[in-house]
Amino acid sequence: MTRPARVQIDTHALRHNLALARARAKHARIMAVIKANAYGHGYLTAAKALDSSDAFAVASLSEALYLRQHQIEKPLLVFQGAQSLQDYRLARQHRLILTIHRLPQIDLLEQLPKPWPDTWLKIDTGMGRMGIHPQHADQAAARLGNSCQALMSHLACADQPEHPLNTKQLETFERITRNLNLPTSLYNSAALLDDRFQLTTDWVRPGLMLYGASPLIGQTAAELGLRPAMKLQAPLLDIRHHNAGDTIGYGATWQCPEPMPVGIIAIGYADGYPRHAPSGTPVQINGATCPLIGRVSMDSITVDLRPCPDAQAGDLATLWGPGLPVEHIATRAETIPYELLCHAGQQETARS
Ligand SMILES: *Cc1c(COP(=O)(O)O)cnc(C)c1O
Repeated sequence: MTRPARVQIDTHALRHNLALARARAKHARIMAVIKANAYGHGYLTAAKALDSSDAFAVASLSEALYLRQHQIEKPLLVFQGAQSLQDYRLARQHRLILTIHRLPQIDLLEQLPKPWPDTWLKIDTGMGRMGIHPQHADQAAARLGNSCQALMSHLACADQPEHPLNTKQLETFERITRNLNLPTSLYNSAALLDDRFQLTTDWVRPGLMLYGASPLIGQTAAELGLRPAMKLQAPLLDIRHHNAGDTIGYGATWQCPEPMPVGIIAIGYADGYPRHAPSGTPVQINGATCPLIGRVSMDSITVDLRPCPDAQAGDLATLWGPGLPVEHIATRAETIPYELLCHAGQQETARS
């Protein structure tokens, strides 16, 4: 089953962005985060292009097993860890590293004969999501013994480097890790890219930056030296000539100010284009910027074709990609580039 919208992945851009992460990380090892179908870029496409990273991370065990089934043999961390003894057995069999983010996961592990699978102990230093309480860190690490390979935590406000929670989280993490003499991992893309984060850790865990989108508010990917890896395109289905006063699409939210050409493009929210993108959101056709007009439908959008009078049915429109940053579209649609990349990319999996 196919739909006309297409996602193209530039694997050279993935490699370029990894090299940039490597340069920023100095001596820290790089765990490339390829959860959620590698932010829509395809698990295997990304795993192969990012092969020179030191490890991969995914959210769930089934994602990790999928990678192992496809001969991805690199060290692989599962952020959500195990939920059952069977999960632990599978992890051991497939040499997965499991995050321990709640104490009952240690209770369960202790029912398993040794050797235990490798684990990373995750501490909640202020994110308030996954991770054990700092006061339990020493004891948890002791119970894990030599199965524990690293200590990790996650920042809540890395994209706002001046946020006071960053200082609190860094201090808490430093205090806990100082005594435990284990490798450490804290930074995501935003923290890795901002010079204000000074703590030295043994591992960094970039995701978004590898895909060429900026994680920092107010700094573009191009300014950071990143190259967008995903291009989302769809063909122009029709060109219509409307009269002044005609309204376009559901809710009749947009009215033609003068006689004008309107393009219909074969992409909609079913393909991952954000339904909340407002009129004015840029779409590129043959190098010209044609603003979205009217509401986004399930399978199509409408654009003002006045900037591109020579466009023809069949021409390809670019919704985001090089020259049209996904961050700009995300801002317009009041969401984040992460969400747009994941959603558009799910179509790629369905098609392959
Ligand atoms: C998703 C995730 C990352 C990567 O974050 P980016 O902002 O995409 O760099 C790192 N660590 C954890 C625990 C994550 O869940």
